[in-house]
Amino acid sequence: MRQQTKLVFSLGLALSGILLLIAPLSWVLWKESVVAEERNVEQVARLLGERTEQRIVAAISVLDRLNNQDWEACSPAHVEAMHNAAVVRPYIKSIGYYRAEERLCGAGFIQTSEVRPPRADRIYDSGVIAWWPGEDTSLAGLPLFMIRYGVHDVAMDPRQLLDAEPLEDRRAALWVEGLRLASEPANAELPEPQTLKPGLTIDRRAGRIVSRISLGTVFPIDIVVAEPLGQFWNRYLPTLSVAGIIGLLLLILWIVLVVRYSRSRFSLTGELRYALAKGQLRAEYQPIIDLETGRCIGGEALARWVRENGERIGPDVFIPVAEDAGFLPEITRAVLDATLRDVGALLKAQPDLSINLNLGPQDLDNKSFIPALKEGLDKAELPPSAIKLEITERSLINSDAVRSLIQMLRGQGHQVAIDDFGTGYSSLSYLESFAIDILKIDKSFVDAIEKEAVTSNVIGHVIEMAKSLELATVAEGVESLHQVEWLRERGVMYAQGYYFSRPLSARKFSRFVKRRSQKVPEPEPA
Ligand code: C2E
Ligand code: CA
Ligand code: CA
Repeated sequence: MRQQTKLVFSLGLALSGILLLIAPLSWVLWKESVVAEERNVEQVARLLGERTEQRIVAAISVLDRLNNQDWEACSPAHVEAMHNAAVVRPYIKSIGYYRAEERLCGAGFIQTSEVRPPRADRIYDSGVIAWWPGEDTSLAGLPLFMIRYGVHDVAMDPRQLLDAEPLEDRRAALWVEGLRLASEPANAELPEPQTLKPGLTIDRRAGRIVSRISLGTVFPIDIVVAEPLGQFWNRYLPTLSVAGIIGLLLLILWIVLVVRYSRSRFSLTGELRYALAKGQLRAEYQPIIDLETGRCIGGEALARWVRENGERIGPDVFIPVAEDAGFLPEITRAVLDATLRDVGALLKAQPDLSINLNLGPQDLDNKSFIPALKEGLDKAELPPSAIKLEITERSLINSDAVRSLIQMLRGQGHQVAIDDFGTGYSSLSYLESFAIDILKIDKSFVDAIEKEAVTSNVIGHVIEMAKSLELATVAEGVESLHQVEWLRERGVMYAQGYYFSRPLSARKFSRFVKRRSQKVPEPEPA
Protein backbone atom coordinates (compact mmCIF):
# COMPACT_ATOMS: atom_id res chain seq x y z
CA MET A 1 0.00 0.00 0.00
CA ARG A 2 2.78 2.36 0.91
CA GLN A 3 4.58 1.45 -2.27
CA GLN A 4 1.40 2.21 -4.16
CA THR A 5 1.04 5.58 -2.50
CA LYS A 6 4.62 6.30 -3.42
CA LEU A 7 3.98 5.23 -6.98
CA VAL A 8 0.87 7.38 -7.24
CA PHE A 9 2.71 10.25 -5.66
CA SER A 10 5.65 10.05 -8.03
CA LEU A 11 3.30 9.65 -10.98
CA GLY A 12 1.44 12.73 -9.85
CA LEU A 13 4.72 14.53 -9.53
CA ALA A 14 5.78 13.45 -12.98
CA LEU A 15 2.44 14.48 -14.45
CA SER A 16 2.53 17.89 -12.89
CA GLY A 17 6.08 18.18 -14.16
CA ILE A 18 4.96 17.47 -17.67
CA LEU A 19 2.00 19.81 -17.38
CA LEU A 20 4.32 22.48 -16.15
CA LEU A 21 6.35 21.90 -19.27
CA ILE A 22 3.56 21.43 -21.79
CA ALA A 23 1.24 24.15 -20.52
CA PRO A 24 3.57 27.08 -21.23
CA LEU A 25 4.58 25.46 -24.52
CA SER A 26 1.04 25.11 -25.75
CA TRP A 27 0.27 28.55 -24.43
CA VAL A 28 3.15 29.96 -26.46
CA LEU A 29 2.07 27.96 -29.51
CA TRP A 30 -1.51 29.10 -29.12
CA LYS A 31 -0.47 32.66 -28.52
CA GLU A 32 1.79 32.50 -31.54
CA SER A 33 -0.98 31.33 -33.82
CA VAL A 34 -3.47 33.81 -32.42
CA VAL A 35 -0.99 36.63 -32.73
CA ALA A 36 -0.04 35.51 -36.22
CA GLU A 37 -3.66 35.42 -37.27
CA GLU A 38 -4.40 38.73 -35.63
CA ARG A 39 -1.51 40.20 -37.48
CA ASN A 40 -2.86 38.75 -40.70
CA VAL A 41 -6.26 40.35 -40.17
CA GLU A 42 -4.63 43.60 -39.28
CA GLN A 43 -2.36 43.48 -42.29
CA VAL A 44 -5.26 42.77 -44.61
CA ALA A 45 -7.18 45.73 -43.18
CA ARG A 46 -4.18 47.98 -43.65
CA LEU A 47 -3.60 46.74 -47.17
CA LEU A 48 -7.22 47.34 -48.07
CA GLY A 49 -7.14 50.82 -46.57
CA GLU A 50 -4.00 51.72 -48.46
CA ARG A 51 -5.37 50.46 -51.75
CA THR A 52 -8.58 52.45 -51.31
CA GLU A 53 -6.60 55.51 -50.47
CA GLN A 54 -4.29 55.01 -53.46
CA ARG A 55 -7.29 54.89 -55.76
CA ILE A 56 -8.76 58.07 -54.36
CA VAL A 57 -5.41 59.84 -54.47
CA ALA A 58 -4.90 58.60 -58.04
CA ALA A 59 -8.32 59.91 -59.05
CA ILE A 60 -7.55 63.32 -57.61
CA SER A 61 -4.17 63.51 -59.30
CA VAL A 62 -5.85 62.63 -62.59
CA LEU A 63 -8.16 65.59 -62.02
CA ASP A 64 -5.20 67.74 -61.05
CA ARG A 65 -3.36 66.86 -64.22
CA LEU A 66 -6.39 67.60 -66.36
CA ASN A 67 -6.89 70.92 -64.56
CA ASN A 68 -3.34 71.95 -65.28
CA GLN A 69 -3.64 71.62 -69.02
CA ASP A 70 -5.06 74.24 -71.32
CA TRP A 71 -8.00 72.56 -72.92
CA GLU A 72 -10.28 73.87 -75.48
CA ALA A 73 -13.26 72.97 -73.35
CA CYS A 74 -15.03 69.80 -74.44
CA SER A 75 -12.96 69.60 -77.61
CA PRO A 76 -12.42 66.08 -78.96
CA ALA A 77 -8.85 66.13 -77.51
CA HIS A 78 -10.17 67.16 -74.11
CA VAL A 79 -12.86 64.49 -74.12
CA GLU A 80 -10.36 61.90 -75.31
CA ALA A 81 -7.94 62.77 -72.50
CA MET A 82 -10.77 62.42 -69.98
CA HIS A 83 -11.87 59.18 -71.60
CA ASN A 84 -8.38 57.68 -71.56
CA ALA A 85 -7.78 58.61 -67.95
CA ALA A 86 -11.10 57.02 -66.99
CA VAL A 87 -10.93 53.74 -68.85
CA VAL A 88 -7.49 52.69 -67.57
CA ARG A 89 -8.89 52.77 -64.05
CA PRO A 90 -11.83 50.39 -63.80
CA TYR A 91 -13.15 52.01 -60.62
CA ILE A 92 -13.50 55.35 -62.46
CA LYS A 93 -16.75 55.28 -64.32
CA SER A 94 -16.61 58.80 -65.68
CA ILE A 95 -14.64 62.03 -65.76
CA GLY A 96 -16.40 65.32 -66.44
CA TYR A 97 -15.68 69.01 -67.08
CA TYR A 98 -17.36 71.97 -65.42
CA ARG A 99 -17.79 75.54 -66.14
CA ALA A 100 -19.11 77.37 -63.14
CA GLU A 101 -21.69 75.02 -61.66
CA GLU A 102 -22.46 73.29 -64.92
CA ARG A 103 -21.02 69.99 -66.07
CA LEU A 104 -20.39 70.67 -69.71
CA CYS A 105 -19.15 67.34 -70.90
CA GLY A 106 -18.03 63.97 -69.63
CA ALA A 107 -16.32 60.83 -70.81
CA GLY A 108 -15.64 57.30 -69.65
CA PHE A 109 -17.85 54.23 -69.27
CA ILE A 110 -20.76 56.42 -68.40
CA GLN A 111 -21.42 59.63 -70.24
CA THR A 112 -21.82 61.64 -67.09
CA SER A 113 -23.33 64.66 -68.60
CA GLU A 114 -26.44 62.91 -67.41
CA VAL A 115 -25.25 62.95 -63.82
CA ARG A 116 -26.19 66.26 -62.39
CA PRO A 117 -26.10 65.99 -58.66
CA PRO A 118 -27.42 69.04 -56.83
CA ARG A 119 -25.64 70.44 -53.82
CA ALA A 120 -22.34 68.85 -52.89
CA ASP A 121 -22.30 66.81 -49.72
CA ARG A 122 -18.98 68.07 -48.55
CA ILE A 123 -16.50 70.79 -49.47
CA TYR A 124 -13.00 70.38 -48.11
CA ASP A 125 -10.36 73.05 -47.47
CA SER A 126 -8.15 71.29 -50.00
CA GLY A 127 -10.66 72.30 -52.67
CA VAL A 128 -12.07 68.81 -52.98
CA ILE A 129 -15.85 68.65 -53.25
CA ALA A 130 -17.53 65.31 -52.58
CA TRP A 131 -20.92 63.78 -53.35
CA TRP A 132 -21.54 60.60 -51.45
CA PRO A 133 -23.13 57.82 -53.44
CA GLY A 134 -26.86 58.03 -53.28
CA GLU A 135 -29.95 58.51 -55.36
CA ASP A 136 -28.72 61.83 -56.73
CA THR A 137 -25.49 60.28 -57.97
CA SER A 138 -27.06 57.08 -59.28
CA LEU A 139 -26.72 56.01 -62.83
CA ALA A 140 -28.47 52.95 -64.13
CA GLY A 141 -29.18 51.99 -60.52
CA LEU A 142 -25.51 52.32 -59.51
CA PRO A 143 -24.87 55.03 -56.91
CA LEU A 144 -21.57 56.69 -57.71
CA PHE A 145 -19.07 58.40 -55.46
CA MET A 146 -18.21 61.72 -57.06
CA ILE A 147 -15.36 64.07 -56.40
CA ARG A 148 -14.81 67.39 -58.03
CA TYR A 149 -11.45 69.04 -57.93
CA GLY A 150 -10.93 72.24 -59.85
CA VAL A 151 -12.85 72.14 -63.12
CA HIS A 152 -12.96 68.37 -63.41
CA ASP A 153 -14.85 65.71 -61.56
CA VAL A 154 -14.64 61.99 -61.28
CA ALA A 155 -17.43 59.46 -60.65
CA MET A 156 -16.28 56.27 -59.06
CA ASP A 157 -17.93 52.95 -58.40
CA PRO A 158 -17.62 52.76 -54.62
CA ARG A 159 -17.68 48.96 -54.67
CA GLN A 160 -14.50 48.99 -56.66
CA LEU A 161 -12.76 51.18 -54.16
CA LEU A 162 -12.65 48.18 -51.88
CA ASP A 163 -10.15 45.67 -53.16
CA ALA A 164 -11.48 42.22 -52.27
CA GLU A 165 -8.53 40.31 -53.59
CA PRO A 166 -6.37 40.08 -50.38
CA LEU A 167 -9.45 39.27 -48.29
CA GLU A 168 -9.62 35.59 -49.09
CA ASP A 169 -12.48 34.30 -46.95
CA ARG A 170 -12.73 37.29 -44.67
CA ARG A 171 -15.32 40.06 -44.86
CA ALA A 172 -14.64 43.77 -45.07
CA ALA A 173 -16.35 47.12 -45.46
CA LEU A 174 -15.26 50.62 -46.37
CA TRP A 175 -16.49 53.81 -44.77
CA VAL A 176 -15.74 57.32 -46.03
CA GLU A 177 -16.63 60.11 -43.61
CA GLY A 178 -18.43 57.54 -41.51
CA LEU A 179 -20.60 56.58 -44.46
CA ARG A 180 -20.52 52.98 -45.51
CA LEU A 181 -19.63 52.94 -49.21
CA ALA A 182 -18.91 49.33 -49.96
CA SER A 183 -18.54 45.90 -48.47
CA GLU A 184 -17.35 42.49 -49.46
CA PRO A 185 -19.44 40.48 -49.77
CA ALA A 186 -22.24 42.94 -50.51
CA ASN A 187 -24.35 43.72 -47.42
CA ALA A 188 -21.88 41.90 -45.19
CA GLU A 189 -22.79 42.28 -41.55
CA LEU A 190 -19.96 44.22 -39.89
CA PRO A 191 -19.70 46.51 -36.89
CA GLU A 192 -19.60 50.27 -37.49
CA PRO A 193 -16.06 51.65 -37.19
CA GLN A 194 -17.03 54.13 -34.50
CA THR A 195 -17.99 51.19 -32.29
CA LEU A 196 -14.48 49.78 -32.57
CA LYS A 197 -11.16 50.90 -31.25
CA PRO A 198 -8.44 51.21 -33.90
CA GLY A 199 -6.52 47.98 -34.35
CA LEU A 200 -7.71 44.57 -33.26
CA THR A 201 -10.74 43.58 -31.30
CA ILE A 202 -11.48 40.00 -30.36
CA ASP A 203 -15.24 39.91 -30.29
CA ARG A 204 -15.95 36.66 -28.49
CA ARG A 205 -19.69 37.26 -28.30
CA ALA A 206 -19.98 37.51 -32.06
CA GLY A 207 -17.22 34.94 -32.39
CA ARG A 208 -14.91 36.94 -34.59
CA ILE A 209 -11.68 38.88 -34.81
CA VAL A 210 -12.23 42.41 -36.09
CA SER A 211 -9.67 44.91 -37.24
CA ARG A 212 -10.30 48.56 -37.91
CA ILE A 213 -7.90 50.75 -39.83
CA SER A 214 -8.38 54.48 -40.29
CA LEU A 215 -6.59 56.63 -42.87
CA GLY A 216 -7.12 60.21 -43.86
CA THR A 217 -4.97 61.54 -46.68
CA VAL A 218 -7.91 62.89 -48.64
CA PHE A 219 -10.98 61.83 -46.69
CA PRO A 220 -11.26 60.13 -43.40
CA ILE A 221 -11.69 56.50 -44.41
CA ASP A 222 -12.20 53.42 -42.29
CA ILE A 223 -11.78 49.80 -43.21
CA VAL A 224 -13.18 47.08 -41.04
CA VAL A 225 -12.11 43.49 -41.66
CA ALA A 226 -13.62 40.59 -39.79
CA GLU A 227 -12.83 36.95 -39.55
CA PRO A 228 -14.94 34.40 -37.72
CA LEU A 229 -13.08 32.60 -34.97
CA GLY A 230 -14.21 29.32 -36.51
CA GLN A 231 -12.34 30.22 -39.65
CA PHE A 232 -9.32 30.93 -37.57
CA TRP A 233 -9.64 27.46 -36.13
CA ASN A 234 -9.86 25.93 -39.57
CA ARG A 235 -6.75 27.75 -40.64
CA TYR A 236 -4.72 26.62 -37.63
CA LEU A 237 -6.31 23.29 -36.94
CA PRO A 238 -3.75 21.30 -38.95
CA THR A 239 -0.80 23.00 -37.24
CA LEU A 240 -2.37 22.80 -33.83
CA SER A 241 -3.38 19.18 -34.22
CA VAL A 242 0.07 18.13 -35.39
CA ALA A 243 1.55 19.95 -32.43
CA GLY A 244 -1.10 18.37 -30.20
CA ILE A 245 -0.35 14.87 -31.46
CA ILE A 246 3.39 15.35 -30.98
CA GLY A 247 2.74 16.70 -27.50
CA LEU A 248 0.48 13.76 -26.70
CA LEU A 249 3.06 11.26 -27.93
CA LEU A 250 5.71 12.92 -25.83
CA LEU A 251 3.39 12.84 -22.87
CA ILE A 252 2.71 9.13 -23.34
CA LEU A 253 6.41 8.42 -23.76
CA TRP A 254 7.15 10.35 -20.62
CA ILE A 255 4.47 8.57 -18.62
CA VAL A 256 5.71 5.18 -19.82
CA LEU A 257 9.26 6.09 -18.81
CA VAL A 258 8.15 7.39 -15.43
CA VAL A 259 5.98 4.34 -14.75
CA ARG A 260 8.80 2.01 -15.70
CA TYR A 261 11.26 3.90 -13.58
CA SER A 262 8.90 4.06 -10.61
CA ARG A 263 8.06 0.40 -10.92
CA SER A 264 11.69 -0.56 -10.87
CA ARG A 265 12.49 1.94 -8.18
CA PHE A 266 9.53 1.08 -5.99
CA SER A 267 9.34 -2.63 -6.49
CA LEU A 268 11.18 -4.51 -3.81
CA THR A 269 13.65 -5.76 -6.41
CA GLY A 270 14.38 -2.26 -7.66
CA GLU A 271 14.64 -0.88 -4.20
CA LEU A 272 17.00 -3.66 -3.16
CA ARG A 273 19.18 -3.08 -6.19
CA TYR A 274 19.21 0.61 -5.36
CA ALA A 275 20.11 -0.08 -1.73
CA LEU A 276 22.88 -2.39 -2.89
CA ALA A 277 24.27 0.21 -5.25
CA LYS A 278 24.12 2.82 -2.48
CA GLY A 279 25.98 0.51 -0.09
CA GLN A 280 23.01 0.36 2.26
CA LEU A 281 23.32 -3.37 2.89
CA ARG A 282 24.96 -4.31 6.17
CA ALA A 283 25.96 -7.45 7.97
CA GLU A 284 25.38 -8.70 11.48
CA TYR A 285 27.36 -11.43 13.11
CA GLN A 286 25.90 -14.24 15.16
CA PRO A 287 28.46 -15.79 17.48
CA ILE A 288 29.30 -19.49 17.22
CA ILE A 289 30.25 -21.06 20.52
CA ASP A 290 32.53 -23.95 21.31
CA LEU A 291 30.30 -26.12 23.54
CA GLU A 292 33.26 -27.71 25.28
CA THR A 293 35.01 -24.49 26.29
CA GLY A 294 32.22 -21.93 26.06
CA ARG A 295 34.49 -19.76 23.91
CA CYS A 296 33.33 -17.89 20.90
CA ILE A 297 35.18 -19.32 17.95
CA GLY A 298 33.68 -16.98 15.39
CA GLY A 299 30.37 -16.04 13.87
CA GLU A 300 28.06 -16.19 10.94
CA ALA A 301 27.69 -13.08 8.80
CA LEU A 302 24.02 -12.40 8.10
CA ALA A 303 22.86 -9.82 5.59
CA ARG A 304 20.81 -6.91 6.90
CA TRP A 305 18.78 -4.38 5.02
CA VAL A 306 17.19 -1.34 6.61
CA ARG A 307 15.07 0.58 4.15
CA GLU A 308 15.31 4.32 3.85
CA ASN A 309 12.13 4.67 5.90
CA GLY A 310 13.74 2.71 8.73
CA GLU A 311 11.84 -0.51 8.09
CA ARG A 312 13.92 -3.64 8.50
CA ILE A 313 13.47 -6.34 5.91
CA GLY A 314 14.54 -9.83 6.82
CA PRO A 315 16.97 -11.78 4.67
CA ASP A 316 14.40 -14.56 4.42
CA VAL A 317 12.45 -11.97 2.33
CA PHE A 318 15.10 -10.16 0.35
CA ILE A 319 17.52 -13.03 -0.29
CA PRO A 320 14.90 -14.89 -2.40
CA VAL A 321 14.07 -11.58 -4.14
CA ALA A 322 17.71 -11.09 -5.14
CA GLU A 323 17.93 -14.73 -6.10
CA ASP A 324 14.87 -14.49 -8.37
CA ALA A 325 16.21 -11.33 -9.98
CA GLY A 326 19.61 -12.96 -10.39
CA PHE A 327 21.80 -10.63 -8.37
CA LEU A 328 22.38 -12.70 -5.26
CA PRO A 329 26.16 -12.76 -5.98
CA GLU A 330 26.18 -9.00 -5.54
CA ILE A 331 24.67 -9.42 -2.09
CA THR A 332 27.22 -12.08 -1.20
CA ARG A 333 29.89 -9.69 -2.35
CA ALA A 334 28.44 -6.88 -0.25
CA VAL A 335 28.37 -9.12 2.83
CA LEU A 336 31.96 -10.20 2.17
CA ASP A 337 33.07 -6.58 1.83
CA ALA A 338 31.17 -5.61 4.98
CA THR A 339 32.72 -8.47 6.90
CA LEU A 340 36.26 -7.59 5.90
CA ARG A 341 35.61 -3.95 6.68
CA ASP A 342 33.77 -4.54 9.97
CA VAL A 343 35.67 -7.37 11.58
CA GLY A 344 38.83 -7.62 9.45
CA ALA A 345 40.96 -6.14 12.21
CA LEU A 346 39.41 -8.43 14.82
CA LEU A 347 40.09 -11.49 12.66
CA LYS A 348 43.65 -10.37 12.18
CA ALA A 349 44.14 -9.87 15.89
CA GLN A 350 42.61 -13.27 16.71
CA PRO A 351 43.76 -15.79 14.15
CA ASP A 352 41.68 -18.59 15.75
CA LEU A 353 38.50 -16.62 14.99
CA SER A 354 36.57 -17.10 11.75
CA ILE A 355 33.46 -15.78 10.05
CA ASN A 356 31.01 -17.91 8.09
CA LEU A 357 29.68 -16.49 4.85
CA ASN A 358 26.47 -17.82 3.28
CA LEU A 359 26.59 -18.80 -0.38
CA GLY A 360 23.42 -19.08 -2.43
CA PRO A 361 22.84 -21.21 -5.52
CA GLN A 362 23.90 -18.42 -7.88
CA ASP A 363 27.20 -18.00 -6.08
CA LEU A 364 28.08 -21.53 -7.01
CA ASP A 365 28.16 -20.65 -10.70
CA ASN A 366 29.81 -17.32 -10.15
CA LYS A 367 33.35 -17.52 -11.46
CA SER A 368 34.38 -14.20 -10.01
CA PHE A 369 33.59 -15.07 -6.38
CA ILE A 370 36.73 -17.02 -5.57
CA PRO A 371 39.13 -14.41 -7.02
CA ALA A 372 37.20 -11.66 -5.22
CA LEU A 373 37.40 -13.58 -1.96
CA LYS A 374 41.13 -14.09 -2.40
CA GLU A 375 41.70 -10.48 -3.27
CA GLY A 376 39.69 -9.28 -0.29
CA LEU A 377 41.57 -11.51 2.12
CA ASP A 378 44.94 -10.52 0.66
CA LYS A 379 44.09 -6.87 1.02
CA ALA A 380 43.02 -7.39 4.61
CA GLU A 381 46.10 -9.54 5.17
CA LEU A 382 44.00 -12.42 6.42
CA PRO A 383 44.53 -16.13 5.93
CA PRO A 384 41.84 -18.18 4.12
CA SER A 385 40.99 -19.82 7.42
CA ALA A 386 39.41 -16.53 8.51
CA ILE A 387 36.44 -17.08 6.20
CA LYS A 388 34.35 -20.23 6.10
CA LEU A 389 31.69 -20.75 3.52
CA GLU A 390 28.20 -22.13 4.15
CA ILE A 391 26.43 -23.89 1.32
CA THR A 392 22.87 -25.05 1.90
CA GLU A 393 22.10 -28.67 1.54
CA ARG A 394 19.52 -27.76 -1.11
CA SER A 395 22.27 -26.33 -3.34
CA LEU A 396 24.07 -29.66 -3.43
CA ILE A 397 21.61 -30.80 -6.08
CA ASN A 398 23.54 -28.64 -8.50
CA SER A 399 26.29 -31.16 -7.85
CA ASP A 400 28.92 -30.65 -10.55
CA ALA A 401 29.25 -26.91 -10.11
CA VAL A 402 29.15 -27.27 -6.33
CA ARG A 403 31.68 -30.04 -6.32
CA SER A 404 34.22 -27.99 -8.24
CA LEU A 405 33.52 -24.86 -6.21
CA ILE A 406 33.96 -26.75 -2.94
CA GLN A 407 37.15 -28.21 -4.30
CA MET A 408 38.48 -24.81 -5.25
CA LEU A 409 37.51 -23.23 -1.94
CA ARG A 410 39.11 -25.98 0.09
CA GLY A 411 42.12 -25.99 -2.21
CA GLN A 412 42.51 -22.33 -1.33
CA GLY A 413 42.44 -23.14 2.38
CA HIS A 414 38.82 -22.38 3.29
CA GLN A 415 36.57 -24.60 5.31
CA VAL A 416 33.19 -25.41 3.83
CA ALA A 417 30.03 -26.04 5.84
CA ILE A 418 26.78 -27.63 4.75
CA ASP A 419 24.04 -25.33 5.99
CA ASP A 420 20.53 -26.32 7.09
CA PHE A 421 21.60 -29.92 7.18
CA GLY A 422 18.75 -32.37 7.47
CA THR A 423 16.30 -30.37 5.41
CA GLY A 424 17.54 -31.60 2.04
CA TYR A 425 17.26 -35.35 2.44
CA SER A 426 20.87 -36.06 1.37
CA SER A 427 21.96 -39.57 2.12
CA LEU A 428 25.16 -40.36 3.89
CA SER A 429 26.76 -41.75 0.79
CA TYR A 430 25.75 -38.74 -1.28
CA LEU A 431 27.19 -36.40 1.32
CA GLU A 432 30.32 -38.47 1.40
CA SER A 433 30.93 -37.67 -2.23
CA PHE A 434 31.41 -34.01 -1.31
CA ALA A 435 34.57 -33.28 0.53
CA ILE A 436 33.40 -30.88 3.24
CA ASP A 437 34.43 -29.80 6.71
CA ILE A 438 31.40 -28.86 8.77
CA LEU A 439 27.77 -29.86 9.11
CA LYS A 440 25.35 -27.26 10.41
CA ILE A 441 22.42 -29.07 11.94
CA ASP A 442 19.21 -27.31 11.07
CA LYS A 443 17.24 -25.55 13.76
CA SER A 444 14.21 -27.82 13.29
CA PHE A 445 16.17 -30.74 14.75
CA VAL A 446 17.46 -28.65 17.60
CA ASP A 447 13.89 -27.56 18.34
CA ALA A 448 12.92 -31.22 18.54
CA ILE A 449 15.33 -31.78 21.43
CA GLU A 450 13.37 -29.39 23.56
CA LYS A 451 10.11 -31.16 22.85
CA GLU A 452 11.69 -34.57 23.36
CA ALA A 453 10.03 -35.35 20.06
CA VAL A 454 10.66 -38.39 17.90
CA THR A 455 12.83 -36.36 15.51
CA SER A 456 15.42 -36.09 18.23
CA ASN A 457 16.31 -39.56 17.13
CA VAL A 458 17.04 -38.13 13.71
CA ILE A 459 19.44 -35.58 15.15
CA GLY A 460 21.17 -38.41 16.93
CA HIS A 461 21.70 -40.10 13.58
CA VAL A 462 22.91 -36.90 12.02
CA ILE A 463 25.45 -36.46 14.79
CA GLU A 464 26.64 -40.01 14.37
CA MET A 465 26.86 -39.55 10.61
CA ALA A 466 28.96 -36.43 11.03
CA LYS A 467 31.24 -38.24 13.40
CA SER A 468 31.72 -41.11 11.00
CA LEU A 469 32.55 -38.64 8.23
CA GLU A 470 34.87 -36.82 10.62
CA LEU A 471 32.99 -33.58 10.17
CA ALA A 472 32.74 -30.83 12.72
CA THR A 473 29.13 -30.12 13.80
CA VAL A 474 27.38 -26.84 14.54
CA ALA A 475 23.90 -26.91 16.01
CA GLU A 476 21.78 -24.01 14.81
CA GLY A 477 18.99 -22.22 16.61
CA VAL A 478 19.96 -23.24 20.10
CA GLU A 479 17.66 -21.49 22.54
CA SER A 480 17.90 -23.28 25.86
CA LEU A 481 20.34 -24.66 28.35
CA HIS A 482 18.64 -27.99 28.03
CA GLN A 483 19.49 -28.09 24.34
CA VAL A 484 23.05 -27.04 25.11
CA GLU A 485 23.51 -29.87 27.54
CA TRP A 486 21.86 -32.41 25.29
CA LEU A 487 24.08 -31.44 22.37
CA ARG A 488 27.24 -31.39 24.43
CA GLU A 489 26.49 -34.84 25.80
CA ARG A 490 26.14 -36.17 22.25
CA GLY A 491 29.52 -34.69 21.32
CA VAL A 492 28.28 -31.79 19.16
CA MET A 493 31.21 -29.38 19.05
CA TYR A 494 29.69 -26.00 18.32
CA ALA A 495 26.41 -24.19 18.69
CA GLN A 496 24.80 -21.01 17.51
CA GLY A 497 21.53 -19.57 18.74
CA TYR A 498 19.67 -17.03 20.80
CA TYR A 499 20.68 -18.86 23.94
CA PHE A 500 24.15 -17.46 23.39
CA SER A 501 23.43 -14.42 21.35
CA ARG A 502 21.27 -12.95 18.65
CA PRO A 503 23.07 -11.68 15.55
CA LEU A 504 25.06 -8.61 16.62
CA SER A 505 26.39 -5.47 15.07
CA ALA A 506 30.14 -5.57 14.37
CA ARG A 507 30.90 -3.52 17.48
CA LYS A 508 28.82 -5.67 19.80
CA PHE A 509 30.16 -8.80 18.18
CA SER A 510 33.74 -7.68 18.89
CA ARG A 511 32.85 -7.04 22.50
CA PHE A 512 31.11 -10.40 22.73
CA VAL A 513 34.16 -12.13 21.31
CA LYS A 514 36.47 -10.42 23.81
CA ARG A 515 34.27 -11.46 26.72
CA ARG A 516 34.14 -15.01 25.45
CA SER A 517 37.80 -15.45 24.49
CA GLN A 518 38.61 -17.12 27.75
CA LYS A 519 37.40 -20.50 28.72
CA VAL A 520 33.94 -20.19 30.28
CA PRO A 521 32.91 -23.45 31.91
CA GLU A 522 29.16 -22.85 32.07
CA PRO A 523 27.71 -20.51 29.43
CA GLU A 524 25.41 -17.84 30.78
CA PRO A 525 22.23 -16.88 28.98
CA ALA A 526 22.83 -13.87 26.76
P1 C2E B 1 20.54 -19.29 8.12
O1 C2E B 1 21.76 -19.28 7.24
O2 C2E B 1 20.08 -20.61 8.60
O3 C2E B 1 20.85 -18.28 9.25
C1 C2E B 1 20.43 -18.47 10.52
C2 C2E B 1 19.14 -17.77 10.75
O4 C2E B 1 18.56 -18.25 11.94
C3 C2E B 1 19.33 -16.28 10.94
O5 C2E B 1 18.17 -15.64 10.52
C4 C2E B 1 19.41 -16.17 12.44
O6 C2E B 1 19.08 -14.90 12.94
C5 C2E B 1 18.41 -17.18 12.85
N1 C2E B 1 18.67 -17.69 14.21
C6 C2E B 1 19.87 -17.91 14.80
N2 C2E B 1 19.73 -18.40 16.03
C7 C2E B 1 18.37 -18.50 16.24
C8 C2E B 1 17.57 -18.95 17.33
O7 C2E B 1 18.06 -19.35 18.40
N3 C2E B 1 16.23 -18.94 17.18
C9 C2E B 1 15.65 -18.50 16.03
N4 C2E B 1 14.32 -18.50 15.96
N5 C2E B 1 16.38 -18.06 14.97
C10 C2E B 1 17.72 -18.07 15.09
P2 C2E B 1 18.25 -14.50 9.51
O8 C2E B 1 19.40 -13.62 9.81
O9 C2E B 1 16.89 -13.92 9.47
O10 C2E B 1 18.56 -15.23 8.18
C11 C2E B 1 17.63 -16.04 7.60
C12 C2E B 1 18.23 -16.73 6.45
O11 C2E B 1 18.54 -15.80 5.40
C13 C2E B 1 19.53 -17.40 6.74
O12 C2E B 1 19.33 -18.61 7.34
C14 C2E B 1 20.11 -17.54 5.36
O13 C2E B 1 19.55 -18.66 4.72
C15 C2E B 1 19.65 -16.31 4.69
N6 C2E B 1 20.73 -15.34 4.69
C16 C2E B 1 21.02 -14.41 5.60
N7 C2E B 1 22.10 -13.71 5.22
C17 C2E B 1 22.50 -14.21 4.03
C18 C2E B 1 23.57 -13.93 3.12
O14 C2E B 1 24.40 -13.08 3.35
N8 C2E B 1 23.65 -14.69 1.98
C19 C2E B 1 22.77 -15.67 1.72
N9 C2E B 1 22.91 -16.36 0.60
N10 C2E B 1 21.76 -15.96 2.54
C20 C2E B 1 21.62 -15.25 3.70
CA1 CA C 1 23.75 -19.98 7.21
CA1 CA D 1 21.13 -22.52 8.67
